[in-house]
Amino acid sequence: MKDIYYSESFEQLWQEETEIKTRVQNRLFCLTFLVCNPLSAIAFYLSGDPFFYTLLPTHLLSDSIILGYMFLNYKKVISGQQMSFYTFATLVCFYAFLLSRPHFSYVQSCINLTLAVIFAGLVLRWPLRYGVVISVMALVLYPASIYFVSNTSLSDFVEQGAIFVMVAHVVFPFVVKLNYNKDRREFYFRYTLQQQNDALERQKTIAEQATRAKTDFLSMMSHEIRTPLNGIVGMVHLMMQEESSEKPNDLLKTLKFSADHLMAVVNDVLDFNKINSNHVVLDPQPFNPFDFFDTLKKTFDPKANEKGISLVFSVDPGLPVQLVADRLRLSQVITNLVHNAIKFTPNGSVTLDVKQVARTPEAVTLDFAVTDTGIGIPKSEQPGIFEIFTQVRARTHSDSVSGTGLGLAISRELMRLFGSEIHLESEEGKGSRFTFRLSMPYSEQPMVVNQPSPAMVAGDMPEVRVLVADDNKTNLVLATQLLKRRNILHDTASNGQEAYEMFSRNRYDLVLMDLRMPIMDGFESTALIRQLDPVVPIIALTASAFENEKERAMANGFSGYFIKPFIPQDFYDYIFPFLGIAVK
Ligand code: ADP
Repeated sequence: MKDIYYSESFEQLWQEETEIKTRVQNRLFCLTFLVCNPLSAIAFYLSGDPFFYTLLPTHLLSDSIILGYMFLNYKKVISGQQMSFYTFATLVCFYAFLLSRPHFSYVQSCINLTLAVIFAGLVLRWPLRYGVVISVMALVLYPASIYFVSNTSLSDFVEQGAIFVMVAHVVFPFVVKLNYNKDRREFYFRYTLQQQNDALERQKTIAEQATRAKTDFLSMMSHEIRTPLNGIVGMVHLMMQEESSEKPNDLLKTLKFSADHLMAVVNDVLDFNKINSNHVVLDPQPFNPFDFFDTLKKTFDPKANEKGISLVFSVDPGLPVQLVADRLRLSQVITNLVHNAIKFTPNGSVTLDVKQVARTPEAVTLDFAVTDTGIGIPKSEQPGIFEIFTQVRARTHSDSVSGTGLGLAISRELMRLFGSEIHLESEEGKGSRFTFRLSMPYSEQPMVVNQPSPAMVAGDMPEVRVLVADDNKTNLVLATQLLKRRNILHDTASNGQEAYEMFSRNRYDLVLMDLRMPIMDGFESTALIRQLDPVVPIIALTASAFENEKERAMANGFSGYFIKPFIPQDFYDYIFPFLGIAVK
């Protein structure tokens, strides 16, 4: 086996470990001799050997010394290993003395001494040097005591069994070394495994902290960026709608462009993170595909017309009249693809093809293809095009500067949710074609559209009063300005506490409630308002775009959830139904 390098810190640990691990063995070793040595004298007594009168007092004396070592170990003056080592060394000296006394025969003594070494080899876990010292002492002292002090010759001693004692003592250090190395190696592997586990545990903690930090950061960024952005976007829209003969100047147009772009970037980053971290769950709803594609096309017509390219939506007329899918997410994917196609096509055409390729009683399978005659994507860039923040380098087209490089990544993630994937075929200079296939439930029954409850048309405004609670001054100004432009009466509160107090004094038809506010947040305030009025619509107006916050709000008394930043039309479209006003 290959040599292992044991570090200093490991050695220190190992010393502590061996001391704990060998505690029982060391005690067992001392106790065995403490009891067995005096007992062995009985055999001599029974056989009438006068050696008994030397043996017993000698063993009692050695026992008292061994007891002394055990006491010192108990008091932690010496370690367990030292205790067993001193015991064995003391015994070797006493045995040497006993061997020098007159014997009838050395056979019994040699058997005892050999057994003692074998027992030590089995029980003790010592460093090599201890074993060497004991063996050298025995190999020197036993023959010396026979040779110099007793009246027996060395050869008689050897013949009566000393040869076994000697051999056992020669082997003893090797056994000690083998046992010691085996234990140390085992401990080393356990130790390194433990270290690896600790390192993995640390890395796991770091990774978890990083994920938490990322989520916290995004949540913070969501709130901190969206809140002022809402002010900018909203104000710009208001200024541009200002009924003035003067056209909005170029600076204002640029400001609007930048604000819209910044809003798109923030929304894309948050959206990507939300989908990527599996916080988005598809919400399949029935819809009419023909209306769906028709409306979608209308949103692109102005841009296509402006660029002078033809935009064709070719929808298979054989499609079922009703499909069941997450319409918003599907339109997000198609919008990304068509938007890119128009953006990267200086002239020619952009086509969306929707074909039915299979139909079972349960589901219909559709092929989608967005084809353009634009600048195309070089082969080398194609593999990474669906990665986040990827934009094809060295674009000469001026449009290429705008965009986050997130659109395709989001589309791919959404397709993953739909259980499908997007494919790309493209040739540089000739155009691109993005395709995907979806299976979805369907019905041939035309949808029954619920007629909205008789509502008043905008302009014919009912006398309604709205309470707006927000701690951010700009957002308050924006919301109230929007309400003012539709002649809607309103009051404002700058925190949840104030909102609750105002609600308890006045009658309101709608409450627009920010979620994060000082003194009392939107959740608490809503809970209190709900005690006064369980039915008044309360809409959470928040900069947080996290699904769980929406769920929390909807489960805690809110009637709606509207995300900042928003553009004025979306604001009206969202709140009007709550006020019983038809959306224009
Ligand atoms: P972006 O916001 O930059 O458009 P996307 O992820 O939607 O981000 O697209 C990534 C890049 O892929 C684009 O910047 C563009 O270089 C390239 N691309 C995407 N669609 C097309 C297309 N129809 N024609 C040419 N290039 C495209």
